Amino acid sequence: MCNFQLIDQAFVTLATNDSYAKGAMVLAKSLRSHSTSRKLVALVGPHVSEPFRNVLSKMYDEVHLVDVLDSGDSAHLALMKRPNLGITLTKLHCWTLTHFSKCVFMDADTLVLSNVDDLFEREELSAAPDPGWPDCFNSGVFVFRPSEETYGKLLQFCSNTGSFDGKLYVSCGDQGLLNSFFSNWATADISKHLPFIYNLSSIAIYSYLPAFKQFGSDAKVVHFLGQMKPWNYSYDPETKSVQGGSAEHELLHPNYLLKWWDIFSTSVIPLLKEQIGDQPFL
Ligand code: UDP
Ligand code: MN
Repeated sequence: MCNFQLIDQAFVTLATNDSYAKGAMVLAKSLRSHSTSRKLVALVGPHVSEPFRNVLSKMYDEVHLVDVLDSGDSAHLALMKRPNLGITLTKLHCWTLTHFSKCVFMDADTLVLSNVDDLFEREELSAAPDPGWPDCFNSGVFVFRPSEETYGKLLQFCSNTGSFDGKLYVSCGDQGLLNSFFSNWATADISKHLPFIYNLSSIAIYSYLPAFKQFGSDAKVVHFLGQMKPWNYSYDPETKSVQGGSAEHELLHPNYLLKWWDIFSTSVIPLLKEQIGDQPFL
């Protein structure tokens, strides 16, 4: 039996450069290896190089080039007013994927540890609390419904926020914008609060270690939130060890980092090598 829902729903991510594209590749592989029944979609910016786009096309069902500067729509206008909104506006483009009825956005620095298709039972806008300020949701994993109308409203909101004067939680990141737009998330409907194991940030591991010890093994999605991303470390495939960050960083999420690198080295590097040979890309 053909289940329409399955092809009508997708996991969506974003990569505006080759570094984040590496993350998107590992994310796709992790979703597939846990047998997702949904489509995988990548939004890419114009700075993602062709070989990287080619690999993304092999791993994702759809790869959409999003060039906010070229779009000629109100996103362009909003960008004229507030030029540092570039990546945020690119992320908002996920609302234009109206050939899907429901999607789950996942940051390119997330990694799936088990099947998370049950996220599609949730409604817009469902997300997990941010570990730094739990009355805000973290925008690394969220359930949404593509809609031109919502997209338009978001852009309108975005271009007006300059005059909002302190009302926006964070001046221009997508998380601040989305929290301001979906401002009743904290209080309106508890079913829109995803359990923290759907977006476990490494920050939470040290800020509440006993909880991590208790619940960490149930984690379904790990989010490498913050400055140091997995691709910034180096990896020794012989010893299967990760180096490069401070010792503190490595202690934070050693197994998750290793898992990321294991997928990258076994499933992604071979595909990149097909495209660019042995040129250094790490
Ligand atoms: N992103 C991107 N290019 C950038 C910065 C961010 O494509 O230069 C995308 C990517 O999907 C990333 C998401 O936007 O995962 C959010 O940024 P990031 O994960 O760096 O923020 P954090 O989760 O650390 O707050
Ligand atoms: Mn992130």
